[in-house]
Amino acid sequence: MEAISDDELWQRFAGEPISHDSAAHYRARLERRLVINRCNACGTWRHPPKPCCPVCWSTDIVPTDVSGNGTIHLVVFLHQGPPADGVDFTTPHPVVTVELDDQPGVRFTSTVVGTTNDEITIGRRVTLDWIERASVPLPVFRLADGIER
Ligand code: ZN
Repeated sequence: MEAISDDELWQRFAGEPISHDSAAHYRARLERRLVINRCNACGTWRHPPKPCCPVCWSTDIVPTDVSGNGTIHLVVFLHQGPPADGVDFTTPHPVVTVELDDQPGVRFTSTVVGTTNDEITIGRRVTLDWIERASVPLPVFRLADGIER
């Protein structure tokens, strides 16, 4: 896919906090790739994105694909919130923070699809999946049964 302009990116992801440091992450989402910034000097992953490495202070930051595999670190169930495309607060809506296998402490927050809320618990293994929300791809997680750490 040809890279779109910054203006188009802002229009596609209206309301998202797109900055110089996160633009590559959102561009990759359009290709259904989960990209997180990584230090090119020491290899440290960093999310949310910042302009320099928290370990070696290098500004040589390279947006890099992650595996999308991880473990549920935190779960909340939202009973209310601002209206959002595809979000049903009556179930309630699950939100998880997943610690990615790529590096301890690197976590990505989204939702879990394809299961019931009873199954969404801390410590469960998940894999990356994609849905469409507000006409753009959204990275989500799906339980990865049978894969134990
Ligand atoms: Zn570094």
